[in-house]
Amino acid sequence: MSDELLVTFWGTRGSIPTPGRLTEKYGGNTTCVEVRCGDELILFDAGSGIRELGSSLLDRFAGKPVNASLLFTHLHWDHIQGFPFFTCTYIPSNKFTIYGEERAAGGVKELLSGQMAGDYFPIQISAMQAELKFKTPSEEFQIGPVKIKTMQLPHPGGALGYRLEAGDSVFVFATDCELDSIALNKDEVAKNHLAPRRYEPAVLEFFKGAHLVVIDCQYTDQVYRQRVGWGHNSVATVVDLCEQVEPGMISLFHHDPQSNDEMVTQMVDDISRRLARKNLRVLAFGAREGLTVKATKPKPAPALIAAH
Ligand SMILES: [Zn+2]
Ligand SMILES: [Zn+2]
Repeated sequence: MSDELLVTFWGTRGSIPTPGRLTEKYGGNTTCVEVRCGDELILFDAGSGIRELGSSLLDRFAGKPVNASLLFTHLHWDHIQGFPFFTCTYIPSNKFTIYGEERAAGGVKELLSGQMAGDYFPIQISAMQAELKFKTPSEEFQIGPVKIKTMQLPHPGGALGYRLEAGDSVFVFATDCELDSIALNKDEVAKNHLAPRRYEPAVLEFFKGAHLVVIDCQYTDQVYRQRVGWGHNSVATVVDLCEQVEPGMISLFHHDPQSNDEMVTQMVDDISRRLARKNLRVLAFGAREGLTVKATKPKPAPALIAAH
């Protein structure tokens, strides 16, 4: 179906690339996610995962022009460091519309150029010969058949969450956020980490009805205690969100560089157990490089036909 959102993970790690055998299951590349809806191509963030996405696009398009939108959640280094290695941007026939918020130091163009300027990189952004258009995302906008809403997420310096809707398909991308910090009862939550969070209705509305939510779940509850204010969620926060908005699937994202594959799997198991104890029909999984997920309602199992 052309109006289904297909989500592919190219980089799932937070903070810094973490290659090696201990992270090969979920992958070591930093944030990059591809969404396809028919022929429309929407990319999120340019962490180190975008290098391999670029190679894949060149293979898939086989010489035909690549035309895509690249949406930035924010410009922390783990979300932009792959941009100079996104080979598609060096090819003149390609076109990219790049969305990112203005910051005090400049717009997304200035900040992406900055990491390639002077002593930081051998070539300048001007070497990118593709057509690059820069835009500031508004609260609601549309790319082809995809309706997009944004929400400010609580994260040091700010980050944008994106909600995509196309046909019956709803996908929310909410990396880099510490939802506890905007809980209306955050003092209570600070004392009792398992207490239900209360949020402004708009926060819950943003997530409601999603078939797939990809969410920052960097820390176990134990680690989070040492990392309050760093801008990332814990397992308890994500379980509580699932209880309040019941997405079809929840994907743990922005894995901590200190979390090897076994530790991420333990977090997924932990969250699945807690959801099951609450009788919630939410499928939890760890985002891993190379995985593609369809953000739609699961099809009902085919009816059994009695054998004669
Ligand atoms: Zn990050
Ligand atoms: Zn960040």
